[in-house]
Amino acid sequence: MISISEALAILADNLTTLSPENVPLEQSGGRFLAERILAREPSPAFTNSAMDGYALRSEDVAAAADRPVKLALVGESAAGAPFSAAIKAGEAMRINTGAVLCEGADAVVPQEAVTVADEFLMVSAPVAAGAHLRRCGEEFESGAALLEEGCRLDARHQALLAAQGVIEVPVLRRPKAALILTGRELVHHRETPANGQIRDANGPMLEGLLGENGALCLPRIRVGDNPGETVAAIRTAAQLTDLIICSGGVSVGPHDHVKEAAAQVGFETLFWRVRQRPGKPLFLARRGPQLLFGLPGNPVSAYMCFLFYIAPALRAMQGGEFSRQSHPAVLSEAVENKLSRDQLFRVVLEGSPEGWLATPLAKQGSHMLTSLTGADGFFWLKAGALHPAGSRVEVLQF
Ligand code: AMP
Ligand code: MG
Repeated sequence: MISISEALAILADNLTTLSPENVPLEQSGGRFLAERILAREPSPAFTNSAMDGYALRSEDVAAAADRPVKLALVGESAAGAPFSAAIKAGEAMRINTGAVLCEGADAVVPQEAVTVADEFLMVSAPVAAGAHLRRCGEEFESGAALLEEGCRLDARHQALLAAQGVIEVPVLRRPKAALILTGRELVHHRETPANGQIRDANGPMLEGLLGENGALCLPRIRVGDNPGETVAAIRTAAQLTDLIICSGGVSVGPHDHVKEAAAQVGFETLFWRVRQRPGKPLFLARRGPQLLFGLPGNPVSAYMCFLFYIAPALRAMQGGEFSRQSHPAVLSEAVENKLSRDQLFRVVLEGSPEGWLATPLAKQGSHMLTSLTGADGFFWLKAGALHPAGSRVEVLQF
């Protein structure tokens, strides 16, 4: 058996980054950039007005504090409809937010600050040169680095790329995954279990997790606890995928065949069994760039192992970091780990003026799915550790 840290290190050492591909901007959400993106155009692309108001020459109104200045209104520059001529001394132009600043003008006065009568503008205070303008390139110039390689794209980034006219985005390929559910006791959740049978909960759960973490999942394969069937399933899955996830069949029982079957298909064991609860029987094997995870069949164990190991692995394969995001929280009561194994210890989170308050979940059984639905996250509780009430822990949220 190895420690959690050793297991994470072995996994990290055996990850292969997937190849890049171009996808339409609209489909790039959740994907990781394959390369740094440079600005193609300055932003703003042209100097424009930050307000609805009037474009003018600041020197014309420099003396307006002493005596109001009257300027002739000579036209309008609307957003998307620039005015082609320049303004001259004594002239001003209507302008709206986002409209091109006409030539000759060097400032905008907001409409609330002036009065208008008979196509004349009365300005009773000076306007500083550059006032209420968004200058060409003030945000960034052409060639500026906008987004870094490895950035996980969301709507913010998509907006920035769209503003730059990016149509196709270079991202890393999504991992292709296969799910193999082992267990003679399993029936599809739409079926009625006979005596001793149970519904497959891990299939929908793991498929959901794969999707949430950017992977594409082949139709799931269900096998009984039979060596030949298990070998055949792994062999089929291995032809098409970057990642195979087996559920169940990795313990020490006479009906656990995943490890031997993986070996027969050419997978080399990287580790089996981790000093942790839940998830002790976790198994990892590799064939070239392909990884095979053997998850314990208990749904809670399978879920926790996915979150703690597979989710960061999927992230790294897609060009992100091999990391899990955690948030500090304060324990509302003392927690002690009397086991000789580390625990992925589930807690309920509650907001408080001092930050998150974490309360241990009473029922942590790895066969109890309500220990997931009733919790908000978990923290890595070391073997033998004693955390008094009020101590700080790092919680990974579900
Ligand atoms: P195993 O790891 O195969 O020994 O399974 C451990 C426990 O998890 C047993 O009680 C199984 O019945 C249960 N189990 C295995 N696979 C699933 C599944 N897909 N959905 C729900 N429970 C499962
Ligand atoms: Mg089983």
